[in-house]
Amino acid sequence: MKFHFLTIFPEMINAYTGEAMLKRAKDKKLADFVAVNIRDYSKDKHGKTDDRPYGGGPGMVMTAEPILRAFSKLKATSSAKASARQGKFKVVMLSPSGKMFTNTVAKKFAKSYTDVVFICGRYEGVDDRVRKILKADEYSIGDYVLTGGELPALVMTDAIVRQIKGVLGDEASLEEARVASPRVYTRPETLIWPPASAKATTRQRKYKVPNVLKEGNHKKIEEWRLSTQASSKQKKQTK
Ligand code: SAM
Repeated sequence: MKFHFLTIFPEMINAYTGEAMLKRAKDKKLADFVAVNIRDYSKDKHGKTDDRPYGGGPGMVMTAEPILRAFSKLKATSSAKASARQGKFKVVMLSPSGKMFTNTVAKKFAKSYTDVVFICGRYEGVDDRVRKILKADEYSIGDYVLTGGELPALVMTDAIVRQIKGVLGDEASLEEARVASPRVYTRPETLIWPPASAKATTRQRKYKVPNVLKEGNHKKIEEWRLSTQASSKQKKQTK
């Protein structure tokens, strides 16, 4: 599956996709990531990609033409043409007022598409004719406003890539394939904090791993994990 990012900050994309799970997915040839610098498609001698908004108001708007030119170049490749013919080519615009991106959407993307193009907005957003011309779907990653579309595009990419078969070494480590808990523990069995060597202003205490996780009763462990899911959700709702 190939992920294209149209952005004025390609290094942000390269930094994240060049590490950890995404890098491993690329090394295994299960995913590929290409950051395209929109500035390279500006005809302005200073590489300008924004302009004042029609109707007035604060801030700048990203102009359509550099984005459309960058898109045409990537769409002209034979692999992009092939995915488009099969209905497996998807264009996404990141927007705080888009449809909410969820794990269900991530699974659908991993199943349905072989090429995903993210248009990463900045400033006050992207000239809306880009959405219309490219028939892009708008997605939001949450009810807050960020300064740009790069993080949302990477959030979506991360969630989609972990749904691609073979990316997570152990299929069972997909959250939904098992009873997962937000409360997880590893060594040491008893954590003493703060350490004796520290000039502590707080009293040293022992933090133990819950007994149920050490007793080897898988039914009880599963029940305990389910109960922690419920209690952490309840706490979130009452906040
Ligand atoms: N004036 C725009 C609006 O109300 O929709 C906000 C633009 S925002 C400051 C700049 C860019 O960040 C957007 O074009 C979008 O690409 C991205 N962005 C910000 N928050 C986002 C969110 N919650 N989900 C997805 N993208 C977001």
